[in-house]
Amino acid sequence: MARPQRNRRICGLPRHPRFGPEGDAVRLSLDEYEAIRLMDHEGLTHEQCAEVMQVSRTTVTEIYAAARRKLAQAIVEGRGLVIEGGSVVLCDHSQACGYGVCGDENVNTQS
Ligand SMILES: [Zn+2]
Repeated sequence: MARPQRNRRICGLPRHPRFGPEGDAVRLSLDEYEAIRLMDHEGLTHEQCAEVMQVSRTTVTEIYAAARRKLAQAIVEGRGLVIEGGSVVLCDHSQACGYGVCGDENVNTQS
């Protein structure tokens, strides 16, 4: 039996969750998106990313590898990209998550 997956903390939802053709789109989970955002967009190290997402460094490496593979599939194979789902918990912004990566500008207000 698979061990239940611990929730990964994310600081916001993607402002642009869909790209390209809908049919046969690659599905990127929200934690995979967050790993790409934190490391490739914000420039955090794997260690810093693990701290912000509240997971182990090993887990971050796995999430990141899966995310890169999916992004590569989407751009090389010309497939669409849909960002949704995953075992995540949205941070409550009551305190900064560190490294200046958590801010209101990242929040997709759905209220
Ligand atoms: Zn946050």
